[in-house]
Amino acid sequence: MVYGKIDLFDVKILNLTKEDVINEIEKIISNKGKEKFYFVNADCFNKAYSDLEYKKILQSAKFVLGDGSGVRYASKIVKTPIIDNVNGTDLLPMICDYAQKAKRKIFLLGAKPNIAEKMKENLLKIYPNLEIVGTHHGYFDWEKQSNEIVNKINDSDAEILLVAFGAPFQEKWINEYYPKINCNIQMGVGGLFDFFSGTIKRAPKWMRLLGIEWIFRLVQEPKRMWRRYILGNPIFIYRLYRWKREKIK
Ligand code: UDP
Repeated sequence: MVYGKIDLFDVKILNLTKEDVINEIEKIISNKGKEKFYFVNADCFNKAYSDLEYKKILQSAKFVLGDGSGVRYASKIVKTPIIDNVNGTDLLPMICDYAQKAKRKIFLLGAKPNIAEKMKENLLKIYPNLEIVGTHHGYFDWEKQSNEIVNKINDSDAEILLVAFGAPFQEKWINEYYPKINCNIQMGVGGLFDFFSGTIKRAPKWMRLLGIEWIFRLVQEPKRMWRRYILGNPIFIYRLYRWKREKIK
């Protein structure tokens, strides 16, 4: 299947639905392939603006998925409207449902100690036959401990690896260790484990449908989030118009 692409800041977002993502995951695993999956929202583009290493990683990945209202708005501005909001939080239940049915094994790497275990417990209540074959927190010494963690992941025989260090750290870690990791699907998922472990509450569905989940996150964690949203959203839009103008020249 050939998907459309949305070019934002010279990063190509694949224009697919959440169902398409699941179909692609199944295809990659059954063909014994290996792919990286990254989500990008407005904040990610703001980070990539001053972090060229991160930007290059996004530019080199095939599966870059557009997440959030900022990207949806931007996709309209560049006249290739995004067809779905493919965010990790909505996608995870679909991945679990698929993995349970297809007997695919999952490894959870990231977040503070015990969060991934708590998330596993919660997921098993909903998907009792889901095989979560390993967990590890995300606060370790990259230089000294990464190889040990890679071995643990490979020993688990997981096909799907979810990495939750937040952007851009998870993308950088995946990019570095991807060749050594056997998992077919290596996905960066941001703060997802905090939601599914019950550590942080997610916005109610009506807010998500209106595209204002960011307001909920801002109210929950104002100190950390004001920079991301109050400053970040206008900066993102300003840079988008400037990038578009320069691109057309
Ligand atoms: N985190 C981690 N290791 C680190 C720093 C952060 O595992 O060295 C985790 C942190 O505990 C949180 C997630 O990464 O669960 C980052 O969440 P955030 O909401 O910032 O990510 P976003 O979704 O915005 O990318």
